[in-house]
Amino acid sequence: MVAGIAVASLVASPFIGVVVNKLSAELFEKWGLCRSVRSDARRLQSVLETIQNVLDDAEQQPITNKALRDWLTRLKDAALDADDVVDDLLTEALRRRAQDRSRICRTVRDFLSFKNPMLLRHKMVHRIKDTRARLDEIADERNRFHLAEGSVSHGANERETCSAVVESEVYGRDTDKEKVINFLLDVGNEDLSILPIVGLGGIGKTTLAQLVYNDERVMAQFDGRFWVYVSENFSIIEIIRSIVRSPTNCSDLEALKLQLQALLCWKRYLLVLDDVWNENQMIWEALKVLLTCGKKGSKIITTTRSETVARIMGTVTLHKMPILSFEHCWLLFEQRAFRLVREEEKPRFVEIGKQIVEKCGGLPLAAKAIGSLMGSKKKEVDQWLAISESELWRLPQDENGVLPALMLSYNHLPSYLKSCFAYCSIFPKDYEIERENLIQLWNAEGFIEKNDCSMLAEAVGNQYFNDLVWRSLFEVTEKDEYDNIVKCKMHDLVHDLTCSVTKVESSVIEVGKKSIVPDSSHYSLLVYDRRKKLPLASELTYQMKKLRSFILLRKQWFAYVDDKKHMDFVSYMISTQPNLRALGLGGSKIQVLPGRISKLKHLRYLDLSSTSIKILPNYIVRLYNLQTLNLQYCYHLQKLPASMRHMINLRHLDISGCSSLIHMPLGMGQLSNLQTLPMFIVGMEDGRRINELDQLNLIRGQLKIKNLNNVNDPMEALKANLFTKTSLQSLKLSWKVKFNGRAAPLSADDVLEKLKPCSNLRVLTMKTFPGIRFPGWLMNHTEPSSSFFPYLVKIKLEDFEKCECLPPLGLLPSLKELSLIKLTGVKRIGTELYGNGGTFPSLVQLKIYDMAYMEKWSTSPTDETTDARMLFPCLKMLTARDCPKLEVEPCFPPSVESLVIENCENLLSARSLQGLSKLRSLNFGGCVASPSAFAGLQNLTALELLRIESCDELTCMPQSLMQHNIPSFQSLKLINNSNLKSLGEGKDQQPPSLFTSLCHLEIEASHSLTALPEWIRYLPLQDLEIRGCSQLEGRYSSEISLLSTMITTTKFRVVTGELHPVQLALVCFCDRLSLERYRGFSLQVLGKFNRARAARLTLPHFICQTPLFMPVGTQGTIKGLTNNQLEEIGCQIILGNTYHLALRPGAELIDDLGGLHKFMNWKRALLTDSGGFQMVSLLHLADITEQGVTFQSPVDGKPMLLTPEESIQIQNKIGADIIMALDDVVKTTITGPRIEEAMYRTLRWIDRCIAAHKRPDAQNLFGIVQGGLDPVLRDICVRGLVDRNLPGYAIGGLAGGEDKDSFWRVVAQCTAALPEDKPRYVMGVGYPLDVVVCSALGADMYDCVFPTRTARFGTALVPEGVLRLKNQAMANDERPIDSTCSCMVCRNYTRAYLHCLVTKDAMGSQLVSYHNLSYMMRLSKDLHMSIVEGRFPEFVQGFLRAQFPKGDVPEWVCNAMEVAGVDISTCIPIIN
Ligand SMILES: [Zn+2]
Repeated sequence: MVAGIAVASLVASPFIGVVVNKLSAELFEKWGLCRSVRSDARRLQSVLETIQNVLDDAEQQPITNKALRDWLTRLKDAALDADDVVDDLLTEALRRRAQDRSRICRTVRDFLSFKNPMLLRHKMVHRIKDTRARLDEIADERNRFHLAEGSVSHGANERETCSAVVESEVYGRDTDKEKVINFLLDVGNEDLSILPIVGLGGIGKTTLAQLVYNDERVMAQFDGRFWVYVSENFSIIEIIRSIVRSPTNCSDLEALKLQLQALLCWKRYLLVLDDVWNENQMIWEALKVLLTCGKKGSKIITTTRSETVARIMGTVTLHKMPILSFEHCWLLFEQRAFRLVREEEKPRFVEIGKQIVEKCGGLPLAAKAIGSLMGSKKKEVDQWLAISESELWRLPQDENGVLPALMLSYNHLPSYLKSCFAYCSIFPKDYEIERENLIQLWNAEGFIEKNDCSMLAEAVGNQYFNDLVWRSLFEVTEKDEYDNIVKCKMHDLVHDLTCSVTKVESSVIEVGKKSIVPDSSHYSLLVYDRRKKLPLASELTYQMKKLRSFILLRKQWFAYVDDKKHMDFVSYMISTQPNLRALGLGGSKIQVLPGRISKLKHLRYLDLSSTSIKILPNYIVRLYNLQTLNLQYCYHLQKLPASMRHMINLRHLDISGCSSLIHMPLGMGQLSNLQTLPMFIVGMEDGRRINELDQLNLIRGQLKIKNLNNVNDPMEALKANLFTKTSLQSLKLSWKVKFNGRAAPLSADDVLEKLKPCSNLRVLTMKTFPGIRFPGWLMNHTEPSSSFFPYLVKIKLEDFEKCECLPPLGLLPSLKELSLIKLTGVKRIGTELYGNGGTFPSLVQLKIYDMAYMEKWSTSPTDETTDARMLFPCLKMLTARDCPKLEVEPCFPPSVESLVIENCENLLSARSLQGLSKLRSLNFGGCVASPSAFAGLQNLTALELLRIESCDELTCMPQSLMQHNIPSFQSLKLINNSNLKSLGEGKDQQPPSLFTSLCHLEIEASHSLTALPEWIRYLPLQDLEIRGCSQLEGRYSSEISLLSTMITTTKFRVVTGELHPVQLALVCFCDRLSLERYRGFSLQVLGKFNRARAARLTLPHFICQTPLFMPVGTQGTIKGLTNNQLEEIGCQIILGNTYHLALRPGAELIDDLGGLHKFMNWKRALLTDSGGFQMVSLLHLADITEQGVTFQSPVDGKPMLLTPEESIQIQNKIGADIIMALDDVVKTTITGPRIEEAMYRTLRWIDRCIAAHKRPDAQNLFGIVQGGLDPVLRDICVRGLVDRNLPGYAIGGLAGGEDKDSFWRVVAQCTAALPEDKPRYVMGVGYPLDVVVCSALGADMYDCVFPTRTARFGTALVPEGVLRLKNQAMANDERPIDSTCSCMVCRNYTRAYLHCLVTKDAMGSQLVSYHNLSYMMRLSKDLHMSIVEGRFPEFVQGFLRAQFPKGDVPEWVCNAMEVAGVDISTCIPIIN
């Protein structure tokens, strides 16, 4: 057959195939209610087969045949309708079956409605007759077209080509690459230069951009790299949002601009704008202005097909992509086309091949696509000639923008692939398609053909997918660790192709854009942007009646959307589209499923992932056809439908991340088609026991079995049949730690014994196992054997209390990663773990954590078969933490390259380090660094990095080590070594030998270090970081004059306060430094949860952890608490009142005495306020003018004036780490123009404060955001302050009696707009609930007198809220204030005792203050740790549950948490 220009857009055959398949289904045959239905069905089947017979020919006929086109259109429409009818019949049969079953078991019947069977049958008969008649008519017409009968072979070997996926190589682009890289590496004189790469579609512009973007030299050159896919929609907001990766719903250009500047300033950055079409110069100029804020040498690369675009954007000569040379195109083609050709056959095809390559016009995409196509063809000269001579090559390319080579490639797809491929047009351009998801959608649509062998539809779908990858129609973008493809993309031109072949069938609607949806649309995908409003149901004027797929695509997470409208929209779609096969609502805001969803009887795919659904109603089980139910990350979901067992077609039930699920529905074991079931919660009652897993043998991927403590009978565990689940890759077994006080079941050992998984397993995790011994299936292997889990790569054993003997894991041939955590019973690692003759032949990573009692790790076991030298041949990374007794005997395995040892006193010694000739990185902390250990370091001949943290014994880098030259040694980090006094001796200009090649030096929090050695100037340093070394301060003050030079030679805005003198002193000899590193202090974000963050805030006197609470001291002391006590409870910063300090003892005196730190003997950080607030709040006579705050002296009554200058002057004398700008304070409850006046005055005063600040090197000036409750004023103020680039920002004017809803909204607004890398301090806030809410919204620091003041009235802070010790009920209460608190007060005093003291004795308020502050410190620490450890939501939930046990969480808290993206639904009772 000669390939012509085909009616490409119309493929009806797969749909007809689907119906024919269904009609011959067994189920259909059995549903023999009525003979006439059956005979009609058979006739329908035969007419469809008649049509099917000629379809292959019809679908290959020329595009010009209009009549044939129409015929095919009608045929396809009729076939889809026939599918609906037949599907209705089958669903009815399914329904009856389920009904019968439920009658038999007589348990649940509520969901089964009893329809009138006669009426129903009558209706069915009519529909099937109509359909048949319609198809008969269409079948008769086929004779008009003289179509050939019989199916066309598409090449016999097309299936086998799927397995191998050719990675994308790049040929012939070396010159282009070097040219672009030269441009990027040249810093030049411009702040920002822009290089456009221009060329035809498919020529490889993006590929070239990717090549240079990922080049190592380029990565080293730039501080930040950003990639934005632009396409037709050139929106400044969208582009900035992509760059800053704004996770918020921010559509405010001003706020985005600020974020952009915060991100880019100080950085030499590279930005790629991929696929730009915008020809509007004005818009580009507007964006360019915003982008011109980076460091000199920042670059933009833009790819475009248009020279006009290039001319508008470029600042240098554009790079025109030359077409690929014939030779290189040939290489691409040859690789694919000749894969399966025998060498001796090749010559016959080379000539034709060359002709074909000629026609690709030098486009690599075309050469690849056509090469793949040829590779799938039978090797017959005729077929090759047919392609070479195809008329498609002559098609003008710009007619619909589709490359002829791609069109050919599509035309030659087998028809089952055509529909699968065409379906992908529903995804937007540049969208990453998830493989598994796509296959599920294909299956829902019926595109996956049934095959004779018993292959699962998913496996067939996978072959289709690989085939499309192999044909270069999909590009792989992500693979998992086992080399499985996870995601793919389509090239722009390929996407254009899908759109052109499905013109009328699918549509992508983007909210906010006008789209035309044709009536006949069968698929649709609504891309919605959650920041924008969804269309109202009534606004959907287009008529979509036959939708088969409808998918809402989220673009953005955690955004704000009107729930009500959202629900309306979803309900509308559900009620108007009865034919839906696939419905995707993932990530949408729905909380309940509309009841009408049960009417979608054809539905096979339902995605509800990441929604707020709490309960899945039972009526959902009426969706008998459902195959895929995706509930991933439905955190709120508490229950699955009780009758779920009736959904017998369910293949994928994804409940991973459904952490609120309490138990499984009854009888899950009946869902024998399940392939995806990532979690099973074992229950105690029949139907929920572990034996439900018995028949679920198709389960693949991962399975987590929870609550194994509920299994009492080992035989039940055996019935779970884990052994027969051959496709399981990852198995996690966990027991509940405490069984409500009951002892662990005695049978735990026997139960685990029976849970032997299949030997195909790759990952095994066991947690909190209460038994005594490991199971035989792990233990009883005496020699290396391939049957002993040959594919297991990862094992994690955590929290075993009683097991003493480890299993012989050393025998596992593929094990790469082993984690042993908190195995309390294990005393040693040795022969028993290695196994007889075992060596851990593949182990790369070993973690040993939290082993309090482990004593010995023997790396040279003495059994006769194991050769010590052979142990751990591949071990590269070794981490040991918190194993205080552990010793290694005799030494670490010699292959180790990276070693981390923390809090393991005995692990580091000269002996243990011997022979580590491959060790590149050594990290140790919290250990005694003995001289002998240091001597051992000399032998580490490959060492590149050494990090020493928290070694209190370290006073000096030892001389013996320093004189030793290790040529590879590049990087030294010394963190928090409190007694480190010297880096070591050198001879003046001669650095110690060890440091001859040192390029990175980092010293942090080493307070005893008083000087840097002279020789440090002669190190080849590229980076130097010094943070929080208080003694170094002041020493280098003479170099401060350098500051002026710095400012004039660079173009950055430098606020004088940011440079630390010692750092400045070093600037002159470290040539490649970014100024960023020389801020006087730093904020390092250690962890984030949405907006909440935990950070390390380095201040001159202390390194703090945020979120943090600062107690307020009036005269610099906290009433009743000594400094030692404050340190003891973990206080990091104290707030001093400038007003009080200035009155007594007076700023001058403090200054004379050496600053407040010395005066009050407080070694940690201090903050002083401006004094203004105190005056306004304490003195009625205060008056505020432009000059400052005028007040009456409380001493002599004379009028006094506090100006911004004076406030700063006083604070400079006091010498706190953080000082506050003087602001114009107004009560929040005041409204009107006074608020506006105060806000602008605050902004004017900040400049006076900055100018007056004389010690920017040692003190950090924070600005204060004012503006009352008015978002506009707040916004102006934030922007004004951020422009001044201060070290930190406070949010002022709150906690003054405003309503809580306004309060959190102001905080949310300010934290969102303030820069990420600066601390945010909410002033005057200190109620525990407020602190938790503000932290969730991204605030870092708080102060308040509340905890100490309320203590004076006998009120203690407890997790439940407050405890009034004055209450009579306390008189006999012998408990401590808070049984969960371990503070000194709670350890020593009863409530009864405190009841006697409070309000009567000063001691009482002191003790309660002590507890209250401990409580606040503990809260700060818990906030910090929960964010760092990724369990912030759980912490917040626990906090709220304790405070509001009845679930009456205030609405403002719920609202704030919603914006913070913290799910607190479990704290609120469910309203049914
Ligand atoms: Zn306490």
